[in-house]
Formats: sequence, structure tokens, C-alpha cells
Amino acid sequence: MQILDGKKLSETIRSEIAEEVTRLRLATGVTPCLAAVLVGEDPASQIYVNNKEKACQKTGMESRLFRLPAAATTEELLKLIGKLNADVSVHGILVQLPLPEGCDELRILDAIDPKKDVDAFHPENVGLISQGRPRYLPCTPCGIQQMLIRSGIETAGKHVVVVGRSDIVGKPMALMLVQKQSGADATVTVVHSRTKNLTDLTRQADILIVAIGKAKFLTADMVQPGAVVIDVGINRLPDGKICGDVDFDAVKEIVSAISPVPGGVGPLTISMLLRNTLRSAQCAAGETTLR
Ligand code: NAP
Repeated sequence: MQILDGKKLSETIRSEIAEEVTRLRLATGVTPCLAAVLVGEDPASQIYVNNKEKACQKTGMESRLFRLPAAATTEELLKLIGKLNADVSVHGILVQLPLPEGCDELRILDAIDPKKDVDAFHPENVGLISQGRPRYLPCTPCGIQQMLIRSGIETAGKHVVVVGRSDIVGKPMALMLVQKQSGADATVTVVHSRTKNLTDLTRQADILIVAIGKAKFLTADMVQPGAVVIDVGINRLPDGKICGDVDFDAVKEIVSAISPVPGGVGPLTISMLLRNTLRSAQCAAGETTLR
């Protein structure tokens, strides 16, 4: 049984990114810059943004944090996004979700210049992914795809069952894995809270990707022996510990490979955010073109 060590994989990816950041700066004078927008005081959001900023700095990228009070209006946020869109020294814009109630999340995300939308949430970027010609790949699904590729796990012809249909993880994951290309070519089933006979479907999976936000939801009886299980969930238990959506201790006994929480998908998500920001900067420096 293989433990899919996302922490180790992401260290490798981040050192590749750091090398490229140095090369880009020396060759063109451009330093990739990620602008993060944090609204309100949500403690989990503050930790996530902090981790993203630290990761940026460690790879030699610039990070700028814009903090707004929880009472900020949609108009104030739109004004800030407009300024960041126009600032040529900013290559990626990240709005940390969830936004406080009262902020029009869709209007704000739609206002980000699609070429700086390094989270790949903008409808233009989602459309390009759907057509198999992505500008940016969304960070969590892209991290999972990298985990599979770099661990030598073949997806072509495999039955992948994605549990959860969020716009951030489940839906884009399914869209990516169904593409006619290497690292994909899978037969994909998406299941969710209205799915009947969920266990019948999860038990048919060669690869199970679970993103629902319910601690230890996926139990060993829901998994086909020998399957690969990717756990996206991040749940805080009453004792303060973090755990995934998979009952790791029981499921690991019957699978061929499994990602842990913490130390699985999470670190790869941040690495992909850095990679997208780097690509945007390479484009700004005239080295590549974005679609
Ligand atoms: P979300 O927006 O809350 O969506 C949850 C999805 O799970 C929904 O599609 C929901 O179905 C489905 N679901 C809920 N209960 C279910 C059940 N009992 N059976 C089947 N499906 C069920 O969640 P998300 O943003 O995708 O996040 C999911 C988890 O991943 C969370 O723990 C989150 O913290 C974590 N996450 C981790 C990373 C990372 O970097 N590691 C990144 C993003 C998210 P309906 O659509 O029918 O409601």
C-alpha cells in the first residue's frame, strides 16, 4: 500500500517553481506577484492566506495582502479588484473564500481579470477547461491530478468516482479527468448528497476522490479492495485535530494507495496556486502567451 505523500511531492514542485522564479527574474526582471484579498476575521481563512503568503515568499515570489473589514461592501471589493486588475506588477489575484454574508461572491469573482484568475473560478476559465484547452487549472483538482501523475497512477480507462460536486473541487475535477488527454482519459462518475445507492457506485471505483467536508464519511465497506483513494476533506474534530473525509485507519488496510490528511492534497493545492501565478508572470514578461 502506497501513502500518497502530498507534502513531499509539493516540496519537489515548489523547488521546481523556485528555480523557475529565479531564472525568470534574472532573465526579464519580472518577479511573480500574488495579491491576496482577505475580508473579515475568519480564523481558518486567515491561516489559509497566511500559508499561501509564506509559500509565495519561500519560492521567491512577491505576495501582497489586502485586508478589508467584515463590513466591507461589494462595491468596495469591486473597487479593489479593479485596482489590482489594472496593476501590471500583480500577476495573480486571490479572493479568499468564503466571503462574509452580504458580499456578492459571484459578482466579485467574475470581476477578476480572467488572465489574473489564478484560482480558475472565472466562467471564461471554467469554459476553457471544459473544452480541454485550459488557461489555468483550478488548484485543488490540479494538485490531485499531479499527485496521480507523479505517483505513477494511470487514469486512462479507469473508473473514477468523484464524491462531491462543488464548483471548487468536484465539478472541475470531473471535467479535467474526462478530457481526451494524458493524465485524464478516465470514465468519470460524480456522486453527491442526492445520489441513490452511493455505496454501490463508490464500490465500483478504481480511483475514489472524496470532497464533501464530512469527517471520516467514507468507510472501508464503501471502497473496492485495491482502489486508489484521494481524500480532499479538511475537518476539525472536537479535540482540535484535523481529519479528512475518509476513515483513513480502516480504509488504508484495503486500498493500493491513499492520501493522508493532513499532508495530502492540501500542500499540493498551494503549489498549484504558485504555479499558476508563475505562468501569469511568464506571460507578462513576454515569455509565453496565455490563451
Ligand atoms: P462543498 O462546497 O461544501 O460541497 C460539498 C459537496 O459534498 C456537495 O456537492 C454535497 O452535495 C456533497 N455532499 C455532502 N454531503 C454528502 C453526502 N452525505 N453524500 C454525498 N455527497 C455529499 O465542499 P468543497 O468546497 O468541495 O469542500 C469539500 C471538502 O474539501 C471540505 O472539507 C473542504 O474543507 C475541503 N477542501 C480541501 C481543499 C484542499 O486544498 N485540501 C480545497 C478545497 C476544499 P450537494 O451538492 O448535493 O449538496
